[in-house]
Amino acid sequence: MTFQIGKFEAPAQEPIVGIDLGTTHSLVAIVRNGQPEVLPSREGKRLLPSVVAVDAEGSEPVLGYEARKHQIRDARHTAFSVKRLLGRSYEDVKAKASEFPYELVPPPADDPSGLVRIRLGYCVFTAIEISAMILKELRLSAEAALGQPVHKAVITVPAYFNDAQRQATRTAGRLAGLDVLRIINEPTAASLAYGLDKKKQGTIAVYDIGGGTFDISILRLHDGVFEVLSTHGNTQLGGDDLDQAIAQWFLADGLSMNELSLEDRAALIEGAERAKKAIGSSGEEQAIELELRGERKRKVLTVETFNQLCRPILEKTRVSCEQALKDAGLSREELTDLVLVGGPTRLPIVQQVASEIFGRTPNTSVHPDEVVAQGAAIQADILAGNTTDLLLLDVVPLSLGIETYGGLMNVLIPRNTKVPATAREVFTTFADKQTGVDIHVFQGERDQVSENRSLARFKLRGIRPAPAGIPRIEVSFLVDADGILQVSARDMETSQVQSVEVRPSFGLSDAEVERMLSAGLENKDGDKAFKRLVDARNEAEPILRATERNLPDADELIGREQADVVRAAVRELQDAMAGTDPVRIRQTRDQVNRVTIVLAEKVLARTLARASSTR
Ligand code: ADP
Ligand code: MG
Repeated sequence: MTFQIGKFEAPAQEPIVGIDLGTTHSLVAIVRNGQPEVLPSREGKRLLPSVVAVDAEGSEPVLGYEARKHQIRDARHTAFSVKRLLGRSYEDVKAKASEFPYELVPPPADDPSGLVRIRLGYCVFTAIEISAMILKELRLSAEAALGQPVHKAVITVPAYFNDAQRQATRTAGRLAGLDVLRIINEPTAASLAYGLDKKKQGTIAVYDIGGGTFDISILRLHDGVFEVLSTHGNTQLGGDDLDQAIAQWFLADGLSMNELSLEDRAALIEGAERAKKAIGSSGEEQAIELELRGERKRKVLTVETFNQLCRPILEKTRVSCEQALKDAGLSREELTDLVLVGGPTRLPIVQQVASEIFGRTPNTSVHPDEVVAQGAAIQADILAGNTTDLLLLDVVPLSLGIETYGGLMNVLIPRNTKVPATAREVFTTFADKQTGVDIHVFQGERDQVSENRSLARFKLRGIRPAPAGIPRIEVSFLVDADGILQVSARDMETSQVQSVEVRPSFGLSDAEVERMLSAGLENKDGDKAFKRLVDARNEAEPILRATERNLPDADELIGREQADVVRAAVRELQDAMAGTDPVRIRQTRDQVNRVTIVLAEKVLARTLARASSTR
């Protein structure tokens, strides 16, 4: 037997990558030596076209540029732009089916999800499955580039994505063998890549033009947290439209695109796209030379003509931008930054139009087609614990609620609820003729609010005086994707509203979350006893009050002897209420209930008699 000792090698920390799952292109990035870096695809390119092709035999699907070549030959077996279908039901999209060159089919009858299917030859896929293939390819690319397994990722989605679309993205990640630690908004990621979070305060317009979609998002930044104020866009506007315009210009003399063979059309679009990129990067005119319908044709595209072709298309983004500003309640002068995102924003004409719309020079130092993936990588790095700058939430780490009578925590959003999350509950007044209520927002796992953390407090006033329990006050909680909690209280009768915004995560370290959690669990029994006591008091209180109110008339209504019994029972209950025994409170309360039945009947009869005599 040997007793030699070996050096213990701590296992290398598992990398967390950032992924931009785009409509046209997808890419994966990671922070190395403090810098976000795009990892090459297995095709050796920086971008992976979000295209998946299967051949008629249904063998292994091909992806990326290889699949894009396939698309030209065999569009019906090629899935692209599936992001448009992610998290959508067949009912949602069937009216738009003609916009897709592949066939959209309804789900099988036994599928409760209703998700639309894509038919590629004999194979039928959901958009989630196609997206999973793209994500898996990115995972394998990252593994090849890093030389180690990759199982964790942050994935970006458009700010307007709803819960179903975000959930679908998560599921796609899971199918691709990725633990999706967080879903973050693309404009937030872009802002992170520009380090705008360091600014503490700001209002940012993120102008994102991709292959076939345009999105504008207005974000507000406060204390390192980004909040989406508004989004707008055009789902049928992007760099592809510029290619189409160039192709049309090239054909000019009467020929229409539809008269070309599939191959010719593909070659023309490809030539147009190449010229577009070349003009953008060189700033010089480009010759386009193609063989169409067996004839060689050459035309020179000048920068001026190119700009003339692009401008009317790009001008279409203006209305969306103006609407987004309006929805955010901002003028363009109030913006602090303009961030450009997406391949086409490399073009000077696009930068110029965006600058004109917003009246300011854009941030352009980060490659616009990489900026989202870089931001995702930065978020991933934060999650890996390599930086402590800011924390964007995706689950609520501790329960959120309000204080109710007796110092009890009433939870509206339980811990670990995925954000964005909403909850709504109706409360009422505790005393008669109350004209306001105090809304005190707490975070924590204990039943007594005094043990939890106070987040905010405000008053809702202007409640019409009424007996206790009559007014209805609706309290709503909303935690948005960036972890910001919005609490509002509304009097359902007068529609009077009061609200506050809080950041539940702010200032809470993981250790603190841990401590509050274990305290919550350890004290569960103590909390339960306290809760029983408060509940017993709350139940007894209205009965006691009502009886006390009627006591002065008791002698007259039920006779001295009976009245004495009631008075004794009331004294017993008052006594019990001053103590801490919930069982005794319940017993004495029940006693009061029993002995006051006759009194209550007499009071009611008298009230009715009075009401009819005044009629
Ligand atoms: P998405 O977010 O929809 O995946 P991208 O940001 O990748 O889209 O943008 C794709 C579009 O960008 C395509 O129309 C492509 O032609 C265009 N594009 C890519 N690189 C350049 C470039 N260097 N100059 C001009 N346009 C470009
Ligand atoms: Mg994009």
